[in-house]
Amino acid sequence: MTGGRGLRGYLSARADPALMLDPTIRNKFQSATLKTISLVSISVMSAEQSTQELFRTADCVCFDVDSTVIVEEGIDELAKFCGMGEEVKKLTAEAMGGNMTFQEALKKRLDIIRPSVGQIKRFIQEHPSHLTPNIKKPWVTSKPTLYCSRELVRILHERGVHVYLVSGGFRSLIEPVAAELNIPASNIFANRLKFYFNGEYAGFDDTEPTSRSGGKGLVVRRLRERHGYDKVVVIGDGATDAEACPPADGFIGFGGNVMREEVRRKAAWYVTDFQELINVLNLQKVASQTVE
Ligand SMILES: [Mg+2]
Repeated sequence: MTGGRGLRGYLSARADPALMLDPTIRNKFQSATLKTISLVSISVMSAEQSTQELFRTADCVCFDVDSTVIVEEGIDELAKFCGMGEEVKKLTAEAMGGNMTFQEALKKRLDIIRPSVGQIKRFIQEHPSHLTPNIKKPWVTSKPTLYCSRELVRILHERGVHVYLVSGGFRSLIEPVAAELNIPASNIFANRLKFYFNGEYAGFDDTEPTSRSGGKGLVVRRLRERHGYDKVVVIGDGATDAEACPPADGFIGFGGNVMREEVRRKAAWYVTDFQELINVLNLQKVASQTVE
């Protein structure tokens, strides 16, 4: 069986089964191995790369607002403006302990602030929100006021992507932000404050999905039903943004203003600068121009 190769030859043939095969079978065996290797190399695309690919091909992108496209948390700033900053801060900490629902926490905070129409108007005029800038890096310090959130939305629009603002904050505070980003008011999903005829605070619309836990996911589901979007990506800094995926196809965590460890863990792709998202979109542009 081993011919003149002795025990060592027999053992090495036993150790390498391919040596014992008919050449045609061996070729088939080798080509099957190559196919397996190529399949393996396809499947090793990391979760981060898959999310980047999804972002490049998405037809709908939903941005969170507070601490994402803008630097501030709207409700905290409004509370400070109305002289209720500390009380609301305490309640927010309590709510984060997990003893109340999202809607209860929203109601309690608004019951403390009780903003009137006049206060909201003055707040918007005197404390306009700040769009998230790029993190200053040596190669962009010559343009310190480059607002990356605006540039990112502009590029997405240019690519025909539908962009929405989906927020647990207040519509009246978000409308000026949407105007700055060239996002139509109809693409805002946020909470609505209610007022009496004399302009006093009268509560909030508790039928808005964004006033409840899981509300952002519900907005994504409705958008998909209404417009038939193929790939929806959510971008945000908070747990409620991460929870919207699924039904969203992808979630990109944003830590440029506030970094939350829980969100970072949940995000397949976590960025701290919108420039990283712009770079990924531009990369595809360069690649397609090269092919042409
Ligand atoms: Mg946020």
